[in-house]
Amino acid sequence: MMVEDPPRRLALPAALRELARTPRLLVCCDFDGTISALVDDPSAARPVDGAVLALDSLATRPYTWSAIVSGRALIDLTRLADVSERVHLVGSHGAEFEVGTIVAFGPVQSTLLQVVVEQCHTLVDGLPGVFVESKPASVAVHVRRATQEVAARVLHVIRTGPGELDGVHVIKGKDVVELAVMSSGKGDAVDVLRTRWAATGTLFVGDDDTDEAAFAVLGKGDVSVKVGMGPTGATWRLADPAAVVRLLRRLDSLRSADA
Ligand SMILES: [Mg+2]
Repeated sequence: MMVEDPPRRLALPAALRELARTPRLLVCCDFDGTISALVDDPSAARPVDGAVLALDSLATRPYTWSAIVSGRALIDLTRLADVSERVHLVGSHGAEFEVGTIVAFGPVQSTLLQVVVEQCHTLVDGLPGVFVESKPASVAVHVRRATQEVAARVLHVIRTGPGELDGVHVIKGKDVVELAVMSSGKGDAVDVLRTRWAATGTLFVGDDDTDEAAFAVLGKGDVSVKVGMGPTGATWRLADPAAVVRLLRRLDSLRSADA
């Protein structure tokens, strides 16, 4: 159940100190709206000052791993985030750990994706401010630059048209509707990463509905942070990407002091 302001077991600074002492620490951030400001042109998104540096610095600490988990295609995320190989990147909402390889993607998904892409183009091509983005395991229809009326109509026809096909998963985002042919999400991605490194404590920071799946798999000793307004299952909330950078720097200095 999602609540507006969940009860807090500890204040965030105290929870962060506790997390910094965990033997094996995993730090995960979403990209858009979390460590980069939301912009009209998705290809113009860049990390805010200090974000990449903080994630990279964390990754140099003993028994500490950092990752960016995004809905973007991995190749797109790799170009925009511009991180060192120490910071791990996961794209397509957790379905893409290596460029060009989608977890459990077969001929059925491939055919279904073609059908969904064609239907989306047929429904929205030519509408002002709307664009269709093809991704390795999904198609996203962006309406951020459309009028409210056009946006509402487009979201409706996409959800009730190709969104209703068997095997299609509708992912709602800010000014975007995405149709995925895979059921994996950010919760699965967090599970894979913390299993890979046997993490004993995890931080996840995100701003959108898709990040709720990651918040949901966190437990005692983990820290979940929602960026911006809106209902959430996360325990804490920060205002904007600049505040996220301060949080990452604080965790990094606590981690270095404990090392
Ligand atoms: Mg986001």
